[in-house]
Formats: sequence, structure tokens, C-alpha cells
Amino acid sequence: MVRPKKHLGQHFLRDKNIARKIVDALQPGAEQPVLEIGPGTGVLTGMLVEQYPGRLFLVEIDAESVDHLHQAYPALGHHVIQGDFLKLDLQKLFPKSFAIIGNFPYNISSQIFFTVLDHRDRVEQVVCMLQKEVADRLCAKHGSKTYGILSVLLQAFYNLESLFKVSPGAFHPPPKVMSSVIRLTRNARKELPCDELLFRTVVKQSFQKRRKTLRNALKHLNLPDSVDASPLMDKRPEQLSVEDFIHLTQQIEGLERVR
Ligand code: SAH
Repeated sequence: MVRPKKHLGQHFLRDKNIARKIVDALQPGAEQPVLEIGPGTGVLTGMLVEQYPGRLFLVEIDAESVDHLHQAYPALGHHVIQGDFLKLDLQKLFPKSFAIIGNFPYNISSQIFFTVLDHRDRVEQVVCMLQKEVADRLCAKHGSKTYGILSVLLQAFYNLESLFKVSPGAFHPPPKVMSSVIRLTRNARKELPCDELLFRTVVKQSFQKRRKTLRNALKHLNLPDSVDASPLMDKRPEQLSVEDFIHLTQQIEGLERVR
């Protein structure tokens, strides 16, 4: 038995039917490796190992859970990686496309998604459970109050689907919040038609003052009149679609090139 550790965000899913639904939601490519983040006691692992023999990898930070996983699934051998997902050398481990699944440790879910974005050319799909409030934010469309930085950055490269909700009672110990399972599937966009670093900066700075217009939020960038006069600048960040943010970045970038 693995004793749940709070500081690692350990809430073990007890409901096998829900585990089955999560595993079934993943549709990796034929030969693609599948990486499970935070398998814990292995409620998903048992199903995944049958479905993806030879191509399932686990990364788990908790030594006690790792011992348990080695005993329960000896066939996985060195595919069980003990460590921090955020510190993995993903490029080396998965030089080609792969898929990610997991009931994520909720305290690091945003950081997991920033890492996914860094490897977006190879991360084809993600199926995960996370805090419902965060899941709703990621999936939110422009015009919604909960639309934010990660919604824009992720939706630029992934199609996001909110699949189903899970109540605290399905876990041991029960978390204080509702949970939600979502799926991210890579879209057709290879590159942004603008400078990506600048795009990230514009999105982040716009949302830092989400109640203000972009004109106000981006004031310190000293944008010249031609950009300042853009109708987009009269809007608040949550009103801008991904395409709008791209367009705005192109306008700013055009200036940088001229300068
Ligand atoms: N998948 C299991 C456990 C979910 S709880 C289940 O559904 O029952 C989240 C798990 O993530 C825990 O096992 C915790 O030890 C692990 N974890 C926490 N931080 C991690 C990190 N940085 N890298 C890898 N695993 C982590």
C-alpha cells in the first residue's frame, strides 16, 4: 500500500469505470509511445500496459509508488522512470511523436502544459485529469471570462475538448475541488505566421491587466500610433481570438522589422 502524500498532490483514483473512460479517450498513433505522468498506485497503468505493450512509459516522482509499480508491472522494467516530469529530457526520450496521459498532480498542471508547448511538434495528444477550474480555463473560448494565457497559447496548436467531470468522492483521499478530464489533439498548424516569442509576450502582458484594454495593458511597450489606432487595442484581452493575437503580433513585429 502506498500512503498518499499531500505535498506530491497524491489523490488516487478509486473508480475503475472512470479509469477505463480516461484510458479509452486516448487515441495515439499506431506505433507511438505513450507516457503516463504521475501513475501513483497504477489505476490507469494496469489498463494502459495491456493496451500499449512495449510502448508505455511512466514517470513518477514518488519512490514508494515507483517500488509498487515495479512489483506490479515487472515487464515495464526501465520504462518506469523515477523522477520529476518537468526535468525529463523529453527530446532524448522521445525523439519522435508521442502521446501523454495522466491524472496530473494538480499543483504543477500549468507547468506541464508549458512543457507540452515546448515540445508541441512531437506531443500529438494529451488526455488528462486536472482541477475542473483549470480545465475550464484551458478550454475556454474568447469572449469567456475564464479565457486566459494558457487558453490562447494551447489553442494555437491544439484542439481542446472537455470530456467529463469527476467528483471528489472518486478519489482517495478526496481532493477539495471538482476534477475534469480533457483531451488536447494537435491541430494542423506547424508554425505561427508571426514571431512566436513576441506572440507569447503580447499574450502574457495583455492578460496581466485583464480588465483593461490592450491599449492600456501594452502602454509600456511604447507602440507607435499605427498600432495604437488598431481597433484591437480598444478591446480587453479576453475578447481576442487566437487569430486576433496573431494579427496584433504581426502588426507589432512589422514595426520591429522596419525599425
Ligand atoms: N495516476 C494516479 C495518481 C494521481 S495523483 C491515480 O489516478 O490514482 C498524482 C501523481 O503524480 C502522484 O502519484 C504523485 O506522486 C505524482 N507526481 C507529483 N509530482 C510529480 C512530478 N513532478 N513528476 C512526476 N510525477 C509527479
